[in-house]
Amino acid sequence: KRRNPGEDEFHQAVREVLDSVAPALRKHPEYAEAKIIERICEPERQIIFRVPWEDDRGEVHINRGFRVEFNSALGPYKGGLRFHPSVYLGIIKFLGFEQLFKNALTGMPIGGGKGGSDFDPKGRSEREIMRFCQSFMTELYRHIGEYTDVPAGDIGVGGREIGYLFGQYKRITNRYESGVLTGKGLSYGGAQVRREATGYGAVFFAEEMLRADGDSFDGKRVVVSGSGNVAIYAIEKVHQLGGTVVACSDSSGYVHDDKGINLEVLKEVKEVRRARIHEYVDALPHASFVPGGRLWDVPCQVAIPSATQNELTAADARTLIAGGCTIVVEGANMPTTPDAVRAFADARVRFAPGKAANAGGVAASALEMQQNASRDSWTFAHSEERLREIMRTIHARCYATADEYGMPGNYVAGANIEGFRLVAEAMLAHGLI
Ligand code: NDP
Repeated sequence: KRRNPGEDEFHQAVREVLDSVAPALRKHPEYAEAKIIERICEPERQIIFRVPWEDDRGEVHINRGFRVEFNSALGPYKGGLRFHPSVYLGIIKFLGFEQLFKNALTGMPIGGGKGGSDFDPKGRSEREIMRFCQSFMTELYRHIGEYTDVPAGDIGVGGREIGYLFGQYKRITNRYESGVLTGKGLSYGGAQVRREATGYGAVFFAEEMLRADGDSFDGKRVVVSGSGNVAIYAIEKVHQLGGTVVACSDSSGYVHDDKGINLEVLKEVKEVRRARIHEYVDALPHASFVPGGRLWDVPCQVAIPSATQNELTAADARTLIAGGCTIVVEGANMPTTPDAVRAFADARVRFAPGKAANAGGVAASALEMQQNASRDSWTFAHSEERLREIMRTIHARCYATADEYGMPGNYVAGANIEGFRLVAEAMLAHGLI
């Protein structure tokens, strides 16, 4: 804490991993000898830069840009960019730290990194978004590349922003380097299923958890928080697998629709019009909008928090448990507070941490890099099958590791130990660097 003052979310993420990996350290004294813990907690490189831009009225704004290149033991740094006013170094470091274990769990050759800005895209025009992205890339370009660091999207950064960032990178470097960014549009090197991958992947992971108990999504009531990229495609996949999502949200409140969230309307409101979620109810008056409410009050059997960090508290956990929830799968990064995780464990609710359950997004990004490198493009069906296989493998690895360490069904321990072990082995092999 003295070394990294004020970085609360980073401390929280580190503590969560360190709490789990003690048994692995006992089994592998060579990790402690090589100071793997101390090295893994220190990013390899942190870049902080000024992003000046002009709004439509000619007023000048200055934002702060970040890229934290956390660990390259397994491959080039890989991880998204987040544009949100809450962004500061502590958030980017927590996300980068989580990312390196998540990427290891995918079994793909990618290291961990994360970046972003405290820029708030809400209410900004297309041109303002474009100018901001261009200014951001005018500094970022010198630090990234298909063999060094490959950013993607996250909160506030979707296909539109990746397009502007890619355009500016190409213009400055005079290189058509497809593999420098992932999450690209299908018209210029993007991959099928990348947009859907995080949400679909989280639901595939949940399906494996249900299957381990001899159960399925059929007939299940599900609540998904958020209504962004992860949430929308999680909802889509739950419905395809026979479950019903009855509530979703944004930062203004939540929508409750007992008939099941109508995806066509949700996509129109959120993806096309980029509007607030209450407009869902304007189109479908049988549903209700609860301004500022906690959507965890809606009873469900499966909960998929998919908005942001620390959005599900211990009080929410107790409400969910009382409402009959037996499975919680993190679509977002660290959406569940440590107290809430403990409450779920005490009530024997099955709980999957984001670094395992939402790894589908980065896995599909690695598949996009693979297709770019071989100048190939796969079909939707083939890409989805690869994603499903990867999620099954991640589930099996976490499950087996938890068993191996005498904590059957503990996905937190399984994911942390397995991710840590994979990174630690590669770091040992590379010597003291
Ligand atoms: P989006 O920007 O597409 O959507 C974010 C959603 O969460 C919006 O509905 C937003 O509501 C809500 N939200 C964001 N911040 C807050 C907040 N402070 N309070 C309440 N609601 C909030 O982002 P993504 O769907 O891409 O990301 C969601 C989560 O998933 C993040 O934790 C991200 O790190 C994680 N993730 C994303 C991956 C991806 O591939 N996109 C991959 C792996 C993890 P509003 O519009 O009102 O702000």
